[in-house]
Amino acid sequence: MNQKPQELLLSIVAPCHNEEEGLGEFCRRAEATARGIAGEAFEIVLVDDGSTDGTWEIIASLAATTPQVLGVRLMRNHGHQLAATAGLAASRGERVLLIDADLQDPPELLLMMMPIMDRGADVVYGQRVRRQGESWFKLASASLFYRLLSRLASVAIPRDVGDFRLMRRRVVDILLAMPERDRFIRGMVSWIGGRQVALPYERDARFAGTTKYPLRKMINFAIDAITSFSTVPLRISTWLGLASAGCAALLLFYTLIRWVEGETIVGWSSIMAAITAFSAIQLICIGIIGEYVGRLVQENKRRPMFMIESLLQGDRSLDIPGGFSDMDAAGKRRVLDDALHGLGEGADGAAQVRAIQ
Ligand code: UDP
Ligand code: MG
Repeated sequence: MNQKPQELLLSIVAPCHNEEEGLGEFCRRAEATARGIAGEAFEIVLVDDGSTDGTWEIIASLAATTPQVLGVRLMRNHGHQLAATAGLAASRGERVLLIDADLQDPPELLLMMMPIMDRGADVVYGQRVRRQGESWFKLASASLFYRLLSRLASVAIPRDVGDFRLMRRRVVDILLAMPERDRFIRGMVSWIGGRQVALPYERDARFAGTTKYPLRKMINFAIDAITSFSTVPLRISTWLGLASAGCAALLLFYTLIRWVEGETIVGWSSIMAAITAFSAIQLICIGIIGEYVGRLVQENKRRPMFMIESLLQGDRSLDIPGGFSDMDAAGKRRVLDDALHGLGEGADGAAQVRAIQ
């Protein structure tokens, strides 16, 4: 392979939230796999997503002993999808593996993903054929979610597929250029297209710790996924509206007939029924519209998607300026390249990355 020495063939990006127990083991397995594939030309990007345990300290000690480890610390907990996006933004490899840090997705699968990409795939994603160590509730809700999503979504999003995937740099750059805040990475990658190949694998149980996805987060995630990729809920309100208009017309017809017959006092119950039914329908419709309007408001704010506090490699740490997350992918790479290779500040001075010893 004819790359320049500092060109990275592979980045492994793992978001970590309170993963102190398993992180050392994850890093050991990821590093061994990456070394077998790319020699020294790889990096492991560990994103600390506002952990409250010793995760950042573990990342710091890993970075001190392994030059390939790049630690990224977010200012607070942003959730898995944004932490993953932050890691992708910081990565510089030609191929990028996005993987959970809890060892549910075996890093060794990379050995099978790489040859598939050598044969021309843009994305190789892991498809779970069996999941170990997860509750029946998690399995049932995940299965319901994937089935609902594949019915509703405007692009084909494969079932039983998480964010565990190997992507080509151009796919990662497009993904990072998509400005939406409510990010559903697996759907967005499907939307990008190109040659996407599934690789079936068995999902292991967590190495250590517990799931960071309680029911509340799972429901929020499902709402994000469906509203980002489907306008079917909006159409439901249209159908409900049409149906209720039909009922209203029938009721009006009925009332007129009763009026002609001189029996206008009867019908109190039907009026009550109509009032409750229609107010329920109106509330449902307002709720659905509100879901989208809420998103419009969020998007309009144009807040940075995430805020990186600092980067860490070896014994150098870098402070990241405010505008970093709004720079385009090429700009970010240039800033990181310059900073991490000690070439000083960003070429155009737009972003000042301070290298502090
Ligand atoms: N994670 C994160 N931020 C969060 C929640 C989770 O970065 O707010 C990370 C977590 O450390 C793990 C990955 O995302 O590496 C997947 O999370 P988890 O294993 O809890 O989800 P599950 O596999 O149960 O769906
Ligand atoms: Mg997990």
